[in-house]
Amino acid sequence: MPRPIIDPEECSGCGICVDACPEGVLELVDDVAEPVNEDDCTGCATCMEECPMGAIVEIEED
Ligand code: SF4
Ligand code: SF4
Repeated sequence: MPRPIIDPEECSGCGICVDACPEGVLELVDDVAEPVNEDDCTGCATCMEECPMGAIVEIEED
């Protein structure tokens, strides 16, 4: 399954990726984006494209 890898040091907690993900994979936890429903990730990379901080470093495929 694909899943986004997020660098917590770079994440500003803006929430753009949370709103952009069409599958509801991401949520803010303590002001850092985390994939809380990663089984639903389709690997579309929208979150990575929308993140203004470059904090979503890759879409990992298992
Ligand atoms: S869009 Fe980027 S900076 Fe904003 S919450 Fe998501 S990972 Fe963090
Ligand atoms: S790759 Fe697509 S489905 Fe997966 S977390 Fe990012 S926006 Fe959501």
